[in-house]
Amino acid sequence: MDFAKPIEELIYQLSRLPGIGRKSAQRTAFYILEMGEERVEALIRALGEAQRTIHPCKRCNSLTEGDLCIVCLNDEREKSKLCLVEDTKEMAAIESTGKFNGYYFVLGGLLSPIKKIGPEEIHIPMLEEILDEGNITEIIMAVSPTIEGQTTSLFISDLVKDRNIQVTELAQGIAIGSSLEYYDAFTLSKAFDQRRIVE
Ligand SMILES: [Zn+2]
Repeated sequence: MDFAKPIEELIYQLSRLPGIGRKSAQRTAFYILEMGEERVEALIRALGEAQRTIHPCKRCNSLTEGDLCIVCLNDEREKSKLCLVEDTKEMAAIESTGKFNGYYFVLGGLLSPIKKIGPEEIHIPMLEEILDEGNITEIIMAVSPTIEGQTTSLFISDLVKDRNIQVTELAQGIAIGSSLEYYDAFTLSKAFDQRRIVE
């Protein structure tokens, strides 16, 4: 059955979130409706506040509050290593392993001719500015081992071939076709240790 229009709209908006189908959108919508005014207001405030104050770091693209994120602001880290990730939550996953002490660059997507995602969309010009500074000697591709991830790794490897930079990718334990965000810290840090050169 169809619900009253405002409920339908709420269900529709929730169902557009990743991993939420119609059924769970319905369940969440009714949960919200029974939450009480105060909690609903708090939720709306949190959404608005995050939307207003969070934006991409001017250097690495990760989502942050200030101009630069906490990692870019830290100049004690290894300037020769740059880890490329698809989004901020994967950066957080790698940070949680404590394995990596270099800097990050958030691509914001992976190359995909079908989805019309090209070098501009994954911020390659911005990446090149960092590479032009001349400090980077290793780029670690911490992207999901999907076709798009592979395409992106090969593109980056080709992009830097005239620079003195080695491009490596995470190894063992990461199954082909899976998404990086689902791996625990142990698996991720092992994959980091056993990274191999992209060829
Ligand atoms: Zn940053």
